[in-house]
Amino acid sequence: MDLSRAEILKLARKAAAEHPGARIHFKFTCAKCGERCVLEEADTLYQRGICFKCGSDSPIEKAGFLVIGDASEKAEGGVR
Ligand SMILES: [Zn+2]
Repeated sequence: MDLSRAEILKLARKAAAEHPGARIHFKFTCAKCGERCVLEEADTLYQRGICFKCGSDSPIEKAGFLVIGDASEKAEGGVR
């Protein structure tokens, strides 16, 4: 389950503060096929995302995120 944009942005900012130097990649669920997709550009939560699997353009109303590149640590925020 994903969280609302407001909630996930709040958590992402907290994660970014806790992991200096790390990149945040937001994830969303494709409205068409249900695939979990990751936005390519770090630290950016777009309004819409293209599904890498089916190519569908989904509005991103809810999202999760990944924290990548904080030295050896790899943490995950939100819920898969
Ligand atoms: Zn899809």
